[in-house]
Amino acid sequence: MSYIIAENLVKKYGSGDAAVAAVAGISFQIEEGEFIGIMGESGSGKSTLLGMMGAMNAPTSGRFIVDDIDIYTLGQEQRADFRREFLGFIFQSFHLVPYLTVIENTMLPLAVVKASKKQKREMAQEALSQVGLLDKAHRLPNQISGGENERVAIARAIVNEPPVLLADEPTGNLDTKTSRGIMELLTRLNQKGMTIVMVTHSPECAGYAQCIMRVSDGKLVGDNSNVRSLDQWQRKERKKEPLPSQNQAVAVGSRPTG
Ligand code: ADP
Ligand code: MG
Repeated sequence: MSYIIAENLVKKYGSGDAAVAAVAGISFQIEEGEFIGIMGESGSGKSTLLGMMGAMNAPTSGRFIVDDIDIYTLGQEQRADFRREFLGFIFQSFHLVPYLTVIENTMLPLAVVKASKKQKREMAQEALSQVGLLDKAHRLPNQISGGENERVAIARAIVNEPPVLLADEPTGNLDTKTSRGIMELLTRLNQKGMTIVMVTHSPECAGYAQCIMRVSDGKLVGDNSNVRSLDQWQRKERKKEPLPSQNQAVAVGSRPTG
């Protein structure tokens, strides 16, 4: 059984004749440790799909299963627990809270976690060191660059060490060089075992994923069956380029890269 299974997911907005299917029957399977890219035109349903994968947006019909848990049969509270334990989410507009420092923003998801203040601070420091921002922990979002803001959003998403990371256009507003840094960071997290699903417009960013799912009008393009194995999709050999070291002095500690 695959780690993540989407079974004929449908999401309609509105009701009656005015109902529009933002996601119109999507099925796929993802294995643990994969790095999947989702591409498609604006309005094709990518964010809606990711929201359903994030246990945040119940499908109109279909099932979504992670690690044998049928997510939308869970009650609200259990689903919130699932989200907390299993998922990190980087939103399309990754808005940090402007009046909280970098480390305070990173600690936000820990508000509901049972741990001491000191432990939470250490978890946030660990996440910030993974994204190479420990030295800027006490700055405000407007005192760091756009790429650094995005890295804080990633730190916030990984602070719980979730097994699955969902990212909605994490480089949407960033220049090429900064985007590359973000992709290298995601690649390192993936190499450590994190399963990653990333929506992106950029072919270059998509190149970092092992597999690409293409969405058009709420459907997987070229997908005629209900359940389609990823083996049938475009599968890419991950780039084997050595990763630059400047951001990762603190970032990966003793772990060898590449
Ligand atoms: P993408 O992320 O690919 O740009 P979205 O998933 O955001 O696409 O949107 C898919 C379609 O669903 C669009 O036509 C959008 O207008 C519509 N849509 C998205 N969210 C809502 C909503 N909350 N209510 C109504 N329509 C929505
Ligand atoms: Mg979107």
